[in-house]
Parts: sequence; structure tokens; C-alpha cells
Amino acid sequence: MLKIKKKRLENYLGNSFLAPYTISLRSPFLRRRTAKLRAVFEKIHQQPSPLFHQIQIETCSFCNNDCHFCPASTAADIRPKEFMSWDVINEITSQLKAIKFNGLISLFNNNDPLIDKRLPEIITHLKKNLPEAKIEIYTNGILLDIQQAVRLWNAGLDSLMVDHYYTNSARNRKVEKFIEDFKNSNYFETHSVTVNEINKEIVRSSRGGQALNKKESKASGFCAYPFMQFNVNYKGEIHLCCNDVYYQETYGNIMEKDLNSIWNSKKFQAKRKMLLEGNRNTGVCKNCDTFPVLKGSEEIVLQESNNQVVIPGYINNGQKLHLEKPAKVYPI
Ligand code: SF4
Ligand code: SF4
Repeated sequence: MLKIKKKRLENYLGNSFLAPYTISLRSPFLRRRTAKLRAVFEKIHQQPSPLFHQIQIETCSFCNNDCHFCPASTAADIRPKEFMSWDVINEITSQLKAIKFNGLISLFNNNDPLIDKRLPEIITHLKKNLPEAKIEIYTNGILLDIQQAVRLWNAGLDSLMVDHYYTNSARNRKVEKFIEDFKNSNYFETHSVTVNEINKEIVRSSRGGQALNKKESKASGFCAYPFMQFNVNYKGEIHLCCNDVYYQETYGNIMEKDLNSIWNSKKFQAKRKMLLEGNRNTGVCKNCDTFPVLKGSEEIVLQESNNQVVIPGYINNGQKLHLEKPAKVYPI
């Protein structure tokens, strides 16, 4: 078993195990961390490449918020508003079942998952077929109330994360009400919620040149996302990473090919090789200044038994109500 320990990252941003934020490349600290992450994947990148341990499934293709930095905001999104069919959901489920998937199912990507009213039903379906997997959502909380949270928990949701997007002049009262209701409910004793405070007027990363308030980027260097993420859109297409918001770089469709052959396709492997070489000169990467960094004090493990890359402790189920510090943004 290959095991690489990571030291605490003081300014770790966000709750996900990899945080898509812009951090100054001038920082020797970031350079060291990116180099370490690259070394990990260079070592374990081989044919067949270790399978992902996180799958991100977008059951609907749109959001209902207007964050200034986000290509999926109502002001920026160019995608049609669509929902994933049950045929696609069933196909993903059966393929994950075939590989005995026991990783993390993130039922969101560049959308708000609560827009899909079938969400509790989808969670029940996934849990029934993949009892070892953990299921998480991030939501902006606009459609969240305590009754909906209870429906999701009863369906089998393991981790509920609420991103509280506020502006310089206003808080989101719906999120604040949900937090109050949760604290005053019986569920506070038995369930946990994580709230991330994020100012929706700030400039963050360029998101592949698609962020409304940051289009340009001259970044180069390694990026770990295509080694770890498996992003499925509503059509069943696999796209490059969470920053490929408009599905510009696709690597196959789960309705036509199995996930192993997509994950290990020549095209996907070639992309990973380019990123290992620090080359961001193609596709969405051309204008992308995202540098994923590991959550502080976490480690990467390659599980030889099932050839999967694993981040232990990636799921939050510790504190009853965990308030993350506001995200800090570092200028390039
Ligand atoms: S950051 Fe999240 S909540 Fe804000 S517009 Fe994008 S997908 Fe929606
Ligand atoms: S667009 Fe390229 S560089 Fe940016 S996060 Fe995705 S894979 Fe990484």
C-alpha cells in the first residue's frame, strides 16, 4: 500500500477533499504542495489507472443562484435546463454495482441538487443498490427546509453540506432559518450539517475561462482532478472535471461504454499525461487557474485490493453543526 501523508494546510479552503480555489503560484508553499500531489499521481498513474473513489452526478443541469464567479449562475449558464432520465440513473447504478463501488457519490456538480424533486427517491435507489457507498450533497440552501432535510436523511443521505452564499449587503435568510430550525429540532442530536460561508460577489478561480468575473488565466502546471473525479452529466456523458461546466471535453457516454473503458480510454489517459507534464494548453484547461490542494492533515492512499485512489476521512459526519470559516481567496 502506497501511503503519502500530508501536513496541515493552514489556509485550506472549503469542505471538499480537494478545493478548487485560486492560490498564488508565487507561493513556495503552493508549489511544494502541487509538486507533492503531482508526485503521488505520477507514481500511481499506470495502465489501468487507479479508479476514482468519488463520482459526481448531476441529475439536473442548472442552478437557481447568481454567484458572480460561477459559470452555472442564472446570469451565465448556457446549458439547456434538463433532468437526468431514470434510464441513465439506472445504468450508472448498475455499473457502480458491478464494481462494488464503496466510495463517495456526490449528487451535485454545477447545479443545485434540490431542484430535482426526485432527489429522495434517487438517494433511496442508490442506497439500496450500493449500501457501502456514501452519499453527499452540497446545496445553496435556497430550496432547503427542515422537512426536506428529513426526507433526504430518511432516504439515506450521509452528508448534508449547505453553502451559505451571501452578498456584501445581505445574508441568505432561508439558510439562516434552516440553521435555526435544525438547531431547535430533535435532529440536531442525531444528524450533522456543515455550513460553508461564501461571499458570492468575490472573484475566485477562472473556472476554465468561464467565470463571468475572471476569464483570463495564464496558469500552467499539474492538476489532479482528472485523476480523481468522474463527472457524469444529465445525458450520461463523462466530462473532464468540475470546471468543465458546459461539458466541452467529454470522454464517452455511460449509456454506450462501461465506466472502466471510459476512465482508461486513450483520450483520458493522454489528458492526464499532459497535466502530469504541467501542460494546460488544450481544451478547458487553457484558461484554467485552478490548483486543487488536499484538505489539511489528510492523506492519499492507493488501495491495492480494488485499485482505487482513496482519501480517508473525506466525508463529514462528525460535528452536529459545523460552521466553516469564510473562504479565503488568493490572487494570482
Ligand atoms: S456556486 Fe453553486 S450556488 Fe452559486 S451559482 Fe454556482 S452552482 Fe449555483
Ligand atoms: S479545466 Fe483542466 S486545469 Fe482546470 S480543473 Fe479541470 S482539469 Fe484541472
